[in-house]
Amino acid sequence: MALAPCRECGAQISDQAPACPHCGVPRAAPQIAPVMHPSSRPSYGVQAVGALVAVTGGPAGCIAFDSAGAGVVATLVGFLIFGFGRFMASQGQ
Ligand SMILES: [Zn+2]
Repeated sequence: MALAPCRECGAQISDQAPACPHCGVPRAAPQIAPVMHPSSRPSYGVQAVGALVAVTGGPAGCIAFDSAGAGVVATLVGFLIFGFGRFMASQGQ
């Protein structure tokens, strides 16, 4: 069991305590915030969308515009979205 100083009175309080026993102030908000399940993070949805665009965008772009350049651009956009999702996920750790 770890001890941490109270942000109001500075007394050492347990990390298991919901509030300071000395002054009654609740412990720091980040430590009592509920932990989100990783799979529920919206950034994983962004990664999934990016991967889908990257995989399907190339062939679809070639067919729709009859141009290899359009397929390459669609693939790159998909990878950018996927990378953005990865970035969001790494920031949330
Ligand atoms: Zn206190």
